[in-house]
Amino acid sequence: MDDVIIIGGSFAGLAGALQLGRARRKVTVLDTGLPRNRFAGHSHGLLGHDHKPPLDILAQARQQLARYPTVKLVKARADSVSGALDDFSVLTDDGESLGARRLLLSYGVSDQMPDIPGFAECWGKSIVPCPYCDGFEVAGQHWGAGLWRAAESACGVAVS
Ligand SMILES: Cc1cc2nc3c(=O)[nH]c(=O)nc-3n(C[C@H](O)[C@H](O)[C@H](O)COP(=O)(O)OP(=O)(O)OC[C@H]3O[C@@H](n4cnc5c(N)ncnc54)[C@H](O)[C@@H]3O)c2cc1C
Repeated sequence: MDDVIIIGGSFAGLAGALQLGRARRKVTVLDTGLPRNRFAGHSHGLLGHDHKPPLDILAQARQQLARYPTVKLVKARADSVSGALDDFSVLTDDGESLGARRLLLSYGVSDQMPDIPGFAECWGKSIVPCPYCDGFEVAGQHWGAGLWRAAESACGVAVS
C-alpha cells in the first residue's frame, strides 16, 4: 500500500510528489498527460521558468523526481475511488486496483470551448485565459480573453 496516491501529475501533483518524496513517503502519481496549459507555446510568470514551453517544465520536473526512489509516476487514468482515511482504493483505466492511506486530488479543471468559430484554434495563442499569463506578449495586438466561470464551467469571450 502507498502512503499517498496522487491523481493528476501536472504542476500541482508533481509539486506534491516532490515534497512527499523528500519526506520518504511512498507515492504513486497517476496522470493522463493533459495539463491545462498544453495549448500555450510558452508559460509565464513562474520564477526560473519564464517563457519556457509548459511541457518542457513538466518534463524537467519528472526528471528531477527520478532521484526519489519512493515516487512512482504512472501514465494511467484514475477511473474511480473508494474507501476512507488510511484505506483508499483507486481503480485505473487499465484495470489495476491501487491502495493508499491518503489521496491527493490534483486533476485540475477542463476548459470548455464555446461554439464560436476559430475560438479553439486561437485558445492559448491570441485568446488567453488570464492577463498575468500572456498579457505582456499580446499587448498592442488584437487579442481576446477567455473567461472561465467556475459556476458554469464555461468560457465567455471578450474581444478588445
Ligand atoms: C492556455 C493557457 C495558458 C496558461 N498559461 C499560464 C502561464 O503562462 N503561467 C501560469 O502560471 N499559468 C498558466 N496557465 C494556468 C495553468 O495551466 C494552470 O494553473 C495549471 O496547469 C494548473 O495545474 P494543475 O496541476 O492544477 O492542473 P492541470 O495542469 O490541469 O493538470 C491536471 C492533470 O491531471 C490529469 N488528470 C485529469 N484527470 C485525471 C484522472 N482521472 N486520472 C489521472 N490523471 C488525470 C491531466 O491529464 C493533467 O495532467 C495557463 C492556462 C491555460 C489554459
